[in-house]
Amino acid sequence: MLCLGIEGTAEKLGVGIVSAEGEILANEGRPMPLREGIHPREAAQHHAQNIKALIERALSRAGVSMEEVDLIAFSRGPGLGPCLRVVAVAARTLALKYGIPVLGVNHCVAHIEIGRLTTGAEDPLTVYASGGNTQVTAYVEKRYRVFGETLDIALGNCIDQFARELKLGAPGGPIVERLAVGGSYVELPYVVKGMDLSYSGLLTAAVRQAKRASIEDVCFSLQETAFAMLVEVAERALAHTEKEEVLIAGGVVVNNRLQEMLRSMCEEHGAAFHAPPKEVLGDNGAMIAWLGVLSYLSGARQSIEETRVVQRWRTDEVEVLWR
Ligand code: AMP
Ligand code: MG
Repeated sequence: MLCLGIEGTAEKLGVGIVSAEGEILANEGRPMPLREGIHPREAAQHHAQNIKALIERALSRAGVSMEEVDLIAFSRGPGLGPCLRVVAVAARTLALKYGIPVLGVNHCVAHIEIGRLTTGAEDPLTVYASGGNTQVTAYVEKRYRVFGETLDIALGNCIDQFARELKLGAPGGPIVERLAVGGSYVELPYVVKGMDLSYSGLLTAAVRQAKRASIEDVCFSLQETAFAMLVEVAERALAHTEKEEVLIAGGVVVNNRLQEMLRSMCEEHGAAFHAPPKEVLGDNGAMIAWLGVLSYLSGARQSIEETRVVQRWRTDEVEVLWR
């Protein structure tokens, strides 16, 4: 069985082809070049213009034809409405044209499952930090429960907006990481509320600090503060759930300093640290295809009418049928 998965919740378009055994035959991606923030309509246009070619590229990389594909999966949410709709229309069209089933799947759950597949983690606490999401989840009784999350903006969004305000470029993550090397600490607000995080005040304060302190110092301090907040929440979730593994997901965890902090937290708790390969850390089509496989094989079915997109779709709303 082969599943073709299409990801397109934000600015990145991805098409992956994965077998029922979890072999990734193709994982092609195309990010929209960004100068500013993501404009939903422009991102949707980018997806519409590139989706056909990207599907063809994935098929050719996998060495298969559309006739050999048994299932179409797509990122049904959460994400930007216009982007989700382009991807959903493409997925439904393929399903109807080739007479095969289609499944809309949850983007955040897909990050967790591709991480489990590629690292061998069995029952991890997952720390997921990307441009649009920041959450700490763990499996409990048929759901990936959210133990901590951001109350306002995502960690990646905080860093990206900071970089944009200071005209450092986009996306901000890797730029701030480079500038942070050799910086020293200047004070910034550390906001953890219960098990949840708040990054918007930190963003405002960091932009203000940049008028006084050196850019290297502010980048360093922004990273230290924002990452320590996330690691604190992850640490408490780990102690509470008594999981023995930590899995990371999302584009922000590519960051070396964040990985180092999470790894040392894991060492202190005797937990295994699992980092998936970079190609599946950020948004990608293979993760959607793999969650399509898992869902389909555990009995999930959707009529075309049931594939409507869901802009706000919490991770813990999905019933995990395959575990
Ligand atoms: P995603 O939404 O998962 O595709 O990831 C995109 C986010 O990852 C953006 O907010 C980027 O700024 C962020 N990002 C990418 N590389 C790094 C890095 N080295 N350090 C921190 N954030 C990063
Ligand atoms: Mg993502």
